[in-house]
Amino acid sequence: MASPSRISGQSASAGFAHGPVHLARRQGRAYIAKATPEHELHALNEAVETAASSIAAAMGQLAGDAADILEFQLAMLEDGSFTAAAAELIASGATAPAAWKTVLEAEIASYRASGDAYFNARSADLADICDTVLQALSGESAESIPPGVIHVDEDVAPSRFLSHDWSKGGGLALRSGSVTSHVAMLARARGVPMIVGIGDAEIDEAANALLDAQSGELLLSPDPAQIDDFNTRRTASRAHQRDADALASHPAVTRNGESVQVLVNIADPSDVERISIDHVDGVGLMRTEFLFGGARGLPDEETQLAAYRKVLDWADGKPVTIRTIDAGGDKPVEGYTIAEDNSFLGVRGIRLSLAKPEIFRVQIRALLRAAPHGALKVMLPMVSVPGEIDAVRAMFAAEAADLAQAGIIHRMPELGIMVEVPSVAITPARFAAASFFSIGSNDLTQYVLAASRDNPRLGALGSAADPAVLSLIGTVASYGLASGIETSLCGDAASDPDMIGLLLDAGLRRLSVAPARVSVIKAAVRLWAPGEIE
Ligand code: PEP
Ligand code: MG
Repeated sequence: MASPSRISGQSASAGFAHGPVHLARRQGRAYIAKATPEHELHALNEAVETAASSIAAAMGQLAGDAADILEFQLAMLEDGSFTAAAAELIASGATAPAAWKTVLEAEIASYRASGDAYFNARSADLADICDTVLQALSGESAESIPPGVIHVDEDVAPSRFLSHDWSKGGGLALRSGSVTSHVAMLARARGVPMIVGIGDAEIDEAANALLDAQSGELLLSPDPAQIDDFNTRRTASRAHQRDADALASHPAVTRNGESVQVLVNIADPSDVERISIDHVDGVGLMRTEFLFGGARGLPDEETQLAAYRKVLDWADGKPVTIRTIDAGGDKPVEGYTIAEDNSFLGVRGIRLSLAKPEIFRVQIRALLRAAPHGALKVMLPMVSVPGEIDAVRAMFAAEAADLAQAGIIHRMPELGIMVEVPSVAITPARFAAASFFSIGSNDLTQYVLAASRDNPRLGALGSAADPAVLSLIGTVASYGLASGIETSLCGDAASDPDMIGLLLDAGLRRLSVAPARVSVIKAAVRLWAPGEIE
């Protein structure tokens, strides 16, 4: 019998799975070369059309983020530039599959070499398009993933993930992959355990395995004691989730009777369809950059207004904090962001909005028009000097005057800021012109520790539990309390139950968390009392 071996990766979607390992197989493709380049080109065009209609059909069954991913793939296929490049190779003698593979592989390589988390994550979408067209050319169907297995692969295409029935259990262990990829996002939304970055470790297909995506480990051929330990932890985690869910609609109150507001972070407006407003105190962060770019291009005023109104209507009078576009860094938007060597320290967030007023003005007008429909608060990302707040306030005033002149109903919303750059966290009093503060622990941590948030090799360095980060969080919370400026935290640290004691100790009483974490965070709040060492 094989002896146990432990393989480490990075958790991309927490959870547990026990089952046989399934290794991805790259199948040889049986393609019969055509008589002339014209016939090859015809075969390619037909295959692209088949692939596009199968993606469009799958899109019809999905909504929200999942549909957006396929929409991106469809737009890439319909754009025609890959087919045009392949046609040139076919004209000089290549077969259709060889030409298509050469063009797509070059594109995938340039996405991966960009060193940019966003493009790296999107390379899986290109690999997906590449395979779908190659399969259509050879008439093959994709090798399916058996139910309940731990699927080990280099990376997994979103369409592959979406076509599998995860209700039978199982999970994913990816050799490369990324925590910011579309597949990671889908896995988190659907509760499928997934780890990434396990590297080239040798893995035996027949192995029985335990996937602990909480701690980021794959244990091959476990012994009985390891299986018992795994089962105990999995049962405890499920029981904890069940207990927490039972109290999801109850307010979060600490053991000494203090109320803690628990709000939710969303991206696409359709996210609210899966959340009960009775379980949360509002929206602490709506990331609007996901409305921009991809197949949708830059959204116009009416499109943005409809998106913001959808969330305000759902919130039914509870506060909705909408962040102005925070593009750049790990979130480039085609046709909007600027290519820079050091994009995390470049023209991103509010700097980019102020640099492109013609685009920012459209968002400001949509926000002003949405404000009468609920308790809208507008939040500015990546503020680093007080003058940025003044500049944005002046733009809001100018657009409000313009709307008034045209007789269009609007209202001036509260204007607050993300505290995610050390200059703000060190001297918050200089930013008292903001109506509220929301600490962005993801960016604050990377800037305080000089550890890029998308680099898996720096995983251990990028923790908001670092004393320097906690000290800054304490500075901001104390200043907020003393000055009466409402202060919350909306970075991922608020979604981590292990961080809750530290954040409450630092003085915070308002947290905005990922939708799937609302009940466990409320449960963690209920366990806390001041002055207790955990
Ligand atoms: C943060 O930086 O903590 C944050 C909430 O913003 P984002 O993750 O979107 O940069
Ligand atoms: Mg941020």
